[in-house]
Amino acid sequence: MVQKTKKQMKKMIKTIAIHVIIATVAVFLIVIALSFLVKDDDKGKNRATIKQVEMPYIEEMFITPNDYSRPQLELEQVNAIVVHYTGNPGSTAKGNRDYFENLRIKKTTYASSHYVVGLEGEIIQCIPLTEISYASNNRNGDTIAIEVCHKDKSGKFNEDTYQSLVELVAWLCGKYNLDKDGIIRHYDVTGKKCPKYFVDHEDAWEQFKEDVFIYIEAEQSEIEPVK
Ligand SMILES: [Zn+2]
Repeated sequence: MVQKTKKQMKKMIKTIAIHVIIATVAVFLIVIALSFLVKDDDKGKNRATIKQVEMPYIEEMFITPNDYSRPQLELEQVNAIVVHYTGNPGSTAKGNRDYFENLRIKKTTYASSHYVVGLEGEIIQCIPLTEISYASNNRNGDTIAIEVCHKDKSGKFNEDTYQSLVELVAWLCGKYNLDKDGIIRHYDVTGKKCPKYFVDHEDAWEQFKEDVFIYIEAEQSEIEPVK
Protein backbone atom coordinates (compact mmCIF):
# COMPACT_ATOMS: atom_id res chain seq x y z
CA MET A 1 0.00 0.00 0.00
CA VAL A 2 2.70 2.46 1.07
CA GLN A 3 4.84 1.33 -1.86
CA LYS A 4 2.03 2.03 -4.29
CA THR A 5 1.43 5.55 -2.90
CA LYS A 6 5.11 6.34 -3.21
CA LYS A 7 5.07 5.14 -6.80
CA GLN A 8 1.97 7.20 -7.50
CA MET A 9 3.56 10.25 -5.89
CA LYS A 10 6.68 9.81 -7.99
CA LYS A 11 4.58 9.50 -11.12
CA MET A 12 2.60 12.60 -10.20
CA ILE A 13 5.75 14.63 -9.52
CA LYS A 14 7.20 13.46 -12.84
CA THR A 15 4.04 14.48 -14.70
CA ILE A 16 3.99 17.90 -13.01
CA ALA A 17 7.69 18.42 -13.78
CA ILE A 18 7.17 17.61 -17.46
CA HIS A 19 4.25 20.03 -17.63
CA VAL A 20 6.25 22.77 -15.93
CA ILE A 21 9.15 22.24 -18.37
CA ILE A 22 6.82 22.34 -21.39
CA ALA A 23 5.10 25.49 -20.10
CA THR A 24 8.45 27.20 -19.41
CA VAL A 25 9.76 26.40 -22.89
CA ALA A 26 6.51 27.63 -24.46
CA VAL A 27 6.63 30.94 -22.52
CA PHE A 28 10.31 31.34 -23.44
CA LEU A 29 9.57 30.81 -27.13
CA ILE A 30 6.63 33.25 -27.06
CA VAL A 31 8.80 35.92 -25.38
CA ILE A 32 11.52 35.46 -28.03
CA ALA A 33 8.99 35.65 -30.88
CA LEU A 34 7.45 38.82 -29.40
CA SER A 35 10.84 40.48 -28.91
CA PHE A 36 11.60 39.91 -32.60
CA LEU A 37 8.26 41.43 -33.60
CA VAL A 38 8.84 44.49 -31.39
CA LYS A 39 12.37 44.93 -32.74
CA ASP A 40 11.19 44.79 -36.35
CA ASP A 41 8.46 47.26 -35.56
CA ASP A 42 10.96 49.65 -33.97
CA LYS A 43 13.21 49.41 -36.99
CA GLY A 44 10.35 50.33 -39.24
CA LYS A 45 9.43 53.31 -37.07
CA ASN A 46 12.91 54.69 -36.54
CA ARG A 47 14.34 54.15 -39.97
CA ALA A 48 13.15 56.84 -42.30
CA THR A 49 13.01 55.99 -45.96
CA ILE A 50 15.84 57.79 -47.74
CA LYS A 51 14.90 59.08 -51.16
CA GLN A 52 16.76 57.59 -54.10
CA VAL A 53 18.69 60.13 -56.14
CA GLU A 54 19.93 59.45 -59.65
CA MET A 55 23.03 57.26 -59.98
CA PRO A 56 26.14 59.31 -60.85
CA TYR A 57 28.20 58.25 -63.87
CA ILE A 58 30.26 55.24 -62.81
CA GLU A 59 32.86 53.46 -64.91
CA GLU A 60 32.82 49.70 -64.29
CA MET A 61 36.31 48.21 -64.30
CA PHE A 62 35.88 45.07 -62.25
CA ILE A 63 38.97 43.41 -60.86
CA THR A 64 39.68 39.89 -62.09
CA PRO A 65 38.48 37.46 -59.39
CA ASN A 66 41.38 36.44 -57.12
CA ASP A 67 42.07 35.69 -53.44
CA TYR A 68 43.91 38.97 -52.74
CA SER A 69 41.52 41.68 -53.94
CA ARG A 70 38.32 40.10 -55.21
CA PRO A 71 37.52 36.92 -53.31
CA GLN A 72 33.92 36.85 -54.63
CA LEU A 73 32.46 36.37 -51.14
CA GLU A 74 28.83 37.38 -50.99
CA LEU A 75 28.02 40.77 -49.43
CA GLU A 76 24.88 39.69 -47.62
CA GLN A 77 23.84 43.02 -46.14
CA VAL A 78 24.88 46.67 -46.28
CA ASN A 79 24.67 48.57 -43.00
CA ALA A 80 27.14 51.36 -43.77
CA ILE A 81 29.27 53.09 -46.38
CA VAL A 82 32.93 53.44 -45.39
CA VAL A 83 34.94 56.39 -46.72
CA HIS A 84 38.72 55.98 -47.11
CA TYR A 85 41.55 58.03 -48.59
CA THR A 86 44.21 56.37 -50.71
CA GLY A 87 47.11 57.70 -48.62
CA ASN A 88 49.02 58.04 -51.88
CA PRO A 89 49.09 61.74 -52.89
CA GLY A 90 48.58 62.44 -56.59
CA SER A 91 47.64 58.86 -57.50
CA THR A 92 44.71 58.42 -59.90
CA ALA A 93 41.52 56.40 -59.60
CA LYS A 94 42.66 54.12 -62.42
CA GLY A 95 46.09 53.75 -60.79
CA ASN A 96 44.52 52.66 -57.52
CA ARG A 97 42.16 50.29 -59.30
CA ASP A 98 45.13 48.76 -61.14
CA TYR A 99 47.03 48.41 -57.87
CA PHE A 100 44.18 46.23 -56.57
CA GLU A 101 44.16 44.28 -59.83
CA ASN A 102 47.90 43.63 -59.62
CA LEU A 103 47.68 42.18 -56.11
CA ARG A 104 46.43 39.11 -57.96
CA ILE A 105 50.00 38.62 -59.18
CA LYS A 106 52.09 40.42 -56.51
CA LYS A 107 50.23 38.72 -53.65
CA THR A 108 51.76 41.23 -51.19
CA THR A 109 48.58 42.10 -49.28
CA TYR A 110 44.81 41.77 -49.24
CA ALA A 111 43.22 45.04 -50.36
CA SER A 112 40.47 46.49 -52.53
CA SER A 113 37.41 48.73 -52.46
CA HIS A 114 34.11 48.82 -54.28
CA TYR A 115 34.76 52.30 -55.67
CA VAL A 116 37.64 54.69 -56.23
CA VAL A 117 36.85 58.40 -56.71
CA GLY A 118 39.53 60.22 -58.73
CA LEU A 119 41.11 63.67 -58.85
CA GLU A 120 38.91 64.71 -61.77
CA GLY A 121 35.76 63.46 -60.10
CA GLU A 122 35.73 60.20 -62.03
CA ILE A 123 34.23 57.19 -60.27
CA ILE A 124 35.57 53.71 -60.98
CA GLN A 125 33.84 50.62 -59.65
CA CYS A 126 36.23 47.73 -58.89
CA ILE A 127 33.92 45.23 -57.17
CA PRO A 128 30.22 44.44 -57.80
CA LEU A 129 27.91 45.45 -54.92
CA THR A 130 26.95 41.81 -54.41
CA GLU A 131 30.50 40.96 -53.28
CA ILE A 132 32.67 42.07 -50.34
CA SER A 133 35.81 44.15 -50.76
CA TYR A 134 38.94 44.06 -48.58
CA ALA A 135 39.02 47.59 -47.15
CA SER A 136 37.39 47.97 -43.78
CA ASN A 137 38.67 45.12 -41.60
CA ASN A 138 35.89 43.57 -39.51
CA ARG A 139 33.25 45.59 -41.39
CA ASN A 140 34.06 44.13 -44.82
CA GLY A 141 31.07 41.85 -44.40
CA ASP A 142 28.38 44.53 -44.17
CA THR A 143 29.73 47.69 -45.78
CA ILE A 144 30.46 49.32 -49.13
CA ALA A 145 33.98 50.80 -49.35
CA ILE A 146 34.98 53.94 -51.23
CA GLU A 147 38.64 54.92 -51.69
CA VAL A 148 39.13 58.60 -52.45
CA CYS A 149 42.11 60.19 -54.23
CA HIS A 150 43.80 63.36 -52.97
CA LYS A 151 46.55 65.53 -54.39
CA ASP A 152 48.69 66.16 -51.29
CA LYS A 153 49.65 64.88 -47.87
CA SER A 154 46.86 66.79 -46.08
CA GLY A 155 44.47 64.26 -47.59
CA LYS A 156 41.99 67.01 -48.46
CA PHE A 157 39.76 66.17 -51.42
CA ASN A 158 39.59 68.72 -54.25
CA GLU A 159 36.25 70.17 -55.38
CA ASP A 160 35.61 67.72 -58.24
CA THR A 161 36.50 64.72 -56.10
CA TYR A 162 34.39 65.97 -53.20
CA GLN A 163 31.34 66.57 -55.40
CA SER A 164 31.52 63.09 -56.94
CA LEU A 165 31.92 61.56 -53.48
CA VAL A 166 28.82 63.44 -52.28
CA GLU A 167 26.81 62.19 -55.28
CA LEU A 168 28.03 58.61 -54.96
CA VAL A 169 27.33 58.40 -51.22
CA ALA A 170 23.93 60.10 -51.70
CA TRP A 171 22.97 57.50 -54.29
CA LEU A 172 24.15 54.63 -52.06
CA CYS A 173 22.22 56.03 -49.06
CA GLY A 174 19.06 55.85 -51.14
CA LYS A 175 19.86 52.40 -52.49
CA TYR A 176 20.45 50.92 -49.02
CA ASN A 177 18.15 53.24 -47.05
CA LEU A 178 20.99 54.57 -44.88
CA ASP A 179 20.79 57.77 -42.85
CA LYS A 180 23.75 59.89 -41.63
CA ASP A 181 24.78 57.21 -39.14
CA GLY A 182 25.25 54.87 -42.08
CA ILE A 183 28.11 56.99 -43.43
CA ILE A 184 31.31 56.18 -41.55
CA ARG A 185 35.08 56.56 -41.83
CA HIS A 186 37.66 53.80 -41.77
CA TYR A 187 38.70 55.60 -38.56
CA ASP A 188 35.33 54.74 -36.99
CA VAL A 189 36.00 51.04 -37.60
CA THR A 190 39.63 50.64 -36.52
CA GLY A 191 40.89 54.03 -35.28
CA LYS A 192 43.18 54.24 -38.32
CA LYS A 193 43.78 57.83 -39.49
CA CYS A 194 41.74 57.31 -42.64
CA PRO A 195 40.48 59.39 -44.40
CA LYS A 196 43.14 61.66 -42.90
CA TYR A 197 41.56 65.05 -43.55
CA PHE A 198 38.21 63.94 -42.14
CA VAL A 199 39.92 62.59 -39.02
CA ASP A 200 42.03 65.74 -38.54
CA HIS A 201 38.98 67.93 -39.16
CA GLU A 202 35.91 66.54 -37.43
CA ASP A 203 33.88 69.58 -38.54
CA ALA A 204 34.70 68.86 -42.20
CA TRP A 205 33.52 65.28 -41.72
CA GLU A 206 30.22 66.44 -40.19
CA GLN A 207 29.86 68.94 -43.04
CA PHE A 208 30.44 66.18 -45.60
CA LYS A 209 27.57 64.08 -44.20
CA GLU A 210 25.47 67.24 -44.10
CA ASP A 211 26.31 67.93 -47.76
CA VAL A 212 25.22 64.42 -48.75
CA PHE A 213 21.78 64.99 -47.29
CA ILE A 214 21.53 68.55 -48.62
CA TYR A 215 22.20 66.99 -52.04
CA ILE A 216 19.53 64.33 -51.51
CA GLU A 217 16.97 66.93 -50.44
CA ALA A 218 17.79 69.23 -53.34
CA GLU A 219 17.36 66.34 -55.78
CA GLN A 220 13.97 65.53 -54.29
CA SER A 221 12.70 69.07 -54.66
CA GLU A 222 13.81 69.11 -58.30
CA ILE A 223 11.74 66.09 -59.19
CA GLU A 224 8.68 67.23 -57.23
CA PRO A 225 5.78 67.79 -59.59
CA VAL A 226 4.91 71.43 -60.36
CA LYS A 227 1.47 72.42 -59.05
ZN1 LIG B 1 41.07 53.32 -45.09
